[in-house]
Amino acid sequence: MADASIPLIVSDIHKRFGDNEVLKGISLEARKGDVITLIGASGSGKSTFLRCMNLLERPDSGDITVHGEPIRFRRTRHGREPADRSQLERIRTRLSMVFQNFNLWAHMTLIANVIEAPVHVRGIPKAHAMEQGMALLERVGLAERAHYYPAQLSGGQQQRGAIARALAMEPEVMLFDEPTSALDPELVGDVLRVMRELADEGRTMIVVTHEMDFARDVSNQVVYLHQGMVEEQGHPSDILTNPRSPRLQQFLAPRG
Ligand code: ADP
Ligand code: MG
Repeated sequence: MADASIPLIVSDIHKRFGDNEVLKGISLEARKGDVITLIGASGSGKSTFLRCMNLLERPDSGDITVHGEPIRFRRTRHGREPADRSQLERIRTRLSMVFQNFNLWAHMTLIANVIEAPVHVRGIPKAHAMEQGMALLERVGLAERAHYYPAQLSGGQQQRGAIARALAMEPEVMLFDEPTSALDPELVGDVLRVMRELADEGRTMIVVTHEMDFARDVSNQVVYLHQGMVEEQGHPSDILTNPRSPRLQQFLAPRG
């Protein structure tokens, strides 16, 4: 019986797109309060790995267990599919994702974005969801922007709004895919500050990032991917300071 106290265990994930085997057997375990940063060159499979965790991509093989609940798959002509639609939806709400390009719904105000899933997926009464949603916008510094549309907000504000939207699902694990990569440099700090606060609260987070200061200061585990495999992993003070793999040494070496 799987350990229900562990938010997320993924083991031996394989994923291919046609002839391209992108993930070649990756495993990862996130314990409560872990902040795990995933680093690696472009194309190494970081996004695909993250997307497999919450089933935005279907892993070809491997197991995913969320708080002791193994995700059930069935074989189809098209490969493996989640066996149970309601389980898929439940898992999605427990592993909420923040994307590089914010992905707020453009036709909805910020607060409408934040309450959409709580009301329509979790069935929370609208007035209550509004109250919670406003508190979350307050937390990310956007209470006065609640009734703006995404296009009326800066990239940094949109991303903080996307984080509030993810938090509204009260996720067990938050997945971030390069949340600051699309931002103008002066907007990165506000988003990282919010993420640090979430880490300080003890939230379980898995973060794909190129922000090495964040990896070093905030995460308690760094996983370095190379060509769809874990090349090296460990505590940041260890592997970022004394990388063993020559590839990681090169990856970390100052450029330019
Ligand atoms: P990273 O996030 O580390 O840059 P990705 O996971 O995005 O890497 O991509 C890893 C590899 O998988 C790349 O070669 C990419 O072209 C390929 N890939 C990713 N998504 C798809 C897809 N939907 N269809 C085909 N190939 C894909
Ligand atoms: Mg990526």
